[in-house]
Amino acid sequence: MTIHQNLIGGQWTGTETRPDINPSNTNDVVGEFSSATRQDAEQAIAAAKAAFPAWSRSGIMERHTLLRKTAQEIRARSDEIGYLLSREEGKTLAEGVGETLRAAQIFDFFAGEALRLNGEAVPSARPGIGVEVTREPVGVVGIITPWNFPVAIPAWKIAPALCYGNTVVFKPAELVPGCAWTLVDILHRAGLPEGVLNLVMGEGAVVGQAMVDSPDIDAITFTGSVGTGKRIAAACVERMCKVQLEMGGKNPLVILDDANLDTAVDVALNGSFFSTGQRCTASSRLIVTEGIHDRFVTALTERLRKVIVDDALKPDTQIGPVVDQNQLDQDVDYISIGKNEGANLAFGGDLLNRSTPGFYLQPALFTECRNDMRICQEEIFGPVASVIRVRDADEALAMANDIPFGLSAGVCTESLKMATHFKRNLEAGMVMVNLPTAGVDFHVPFGGRKASSYGPREQGSYASEFYTTVKTAYTV
Ligand code: ADP
Repeated sequence: MTIHQNLIGGQWTGTETRPDINPSNTNDVVGEFSSATRQDAEQAIAAAKAAFPAWSRSGIMERHTLLRKTAQEIRARSDEIGYLLSREEGKTLAEGVGETLRAAQIFDFFAGEALRLNGEAVPSARPGIGVEVTREPVGVVGIITPWNFPVAIPAWKIAPALCYGNTVVFKPAELVPGCAWTLVDILHRAGLPEGVLNLVMGEGAVVGQAMVDSPDIDAITFTGSVGTGKRIAAACVERMCKVQLEMGGKNPLVILDDANLDTAVDVALNGSFFSTGQRCTASSRLIVTEGIHDRFVTALTERLRKVIVDDALKPDTQIGPVVDQNQLDQDVDYISIGKNEGANLAFGGDLLNRSTPGFYLQPALFTECRNDMRICQEEIFGPVASVIRVRDADEALAMANDIPFGLSAGVCTESLKMATHFKRNLEAGMVMVNLPTAGVDFHVPFGGRKASSYGPREQGSYASEFYTTVKTAYTV
């Protein structure tokens, strides 16, 4: 079997490997991928540092052309890359292809941004002096990504990093090296100078830690768990390294009495369970007012009964497997925690057997939950949602905000007044009205509040806040 190696200083290198396993069929090895050592990571950082002076001064046409070429190849190969994504991560084919096309849009967007770099020229407070405010690249950016969006998250970090003139050391999650390797291969062949983008696949505690510890990395962007994020932030602050974190969510979806029932059920089903619930924007807390509560629970349960959970690569599958045994154990643990806390398991929660050995879990819906239960306060990251019954809109809003996270939040209502009230008062970085809490555009800011995010927003033109540093120059 071919070994997919790391890319360090323009060379494919690495001997130690680890297998990439398909969660829909654990007998299927997707490929063998290099597993970097601490020394490999240090070499990659040195290569990125050496490449920075030239790349930071590269022309905008070079960056534009490269990013656009990358978008074109991703789009042209979206079926193949989407298939690889579904095979490696377990989301459905439609989700895999959709995510791949989104990555193409992200590269196109930042290809455009490269041509829109600008600054300000303003008069000084002192007559005769001119002031220019410009943005410069930060330097070497360390990119650490999770497994749940193996193409889109690397894309939305790598594209702006390169667009604004930074060099990159990229460490993907252990479970999804295939998509990372493919993306880096496309960028490499598009003509990136050596050392501008380095790929170091391997363990977080080894490769990620080497990046966090290195004085030669100028900024770290991380998406992953709260625990790892906090440790990274502490280490970055210690050495004054710029840091951006996207972490967990425990996103509320409020369903008010006047909601359109079909819309509310569609939005909840999609937001809570699609992508196997493995999205930091998943609607894991369904806060429902009592006038619609019973009808909503009955209708959602009916829909869940019909959902097809199976091999991600089968065309009819609506929910693929959980990503691996660890995550499955965590989901199953939380289901027993919920039962022990006194919540009612209204549907699902059983392990499922399919024709291939995989991590299949029936989506689980808890009802009669209290917001202070662990299943309502802690991120499960699986196809498990909790329904909390509330009296009215005021109680719903208070409960929605009573959580240490603040990534995304939603409301289903037919009332403009209520929609406006919730848009203004939900404590979250993103608010959705009659839409799932998950599923965002590529050209507008993404990020949250409280323990969900730290540092500047990602995506859209707001990405420049993290990937550039501002210079104010005075000339007499
Ligand atoms: P998850 O539970 O989603 O896997 P993690 O926070 O463990 O979340 O992982 C997100 C990313 O962080 C992965 O690429 C992982 O390898 C990396 N990582 C894990 N531990 C560390 C660490 N100590 N330093 C840097 N990166 C790490």
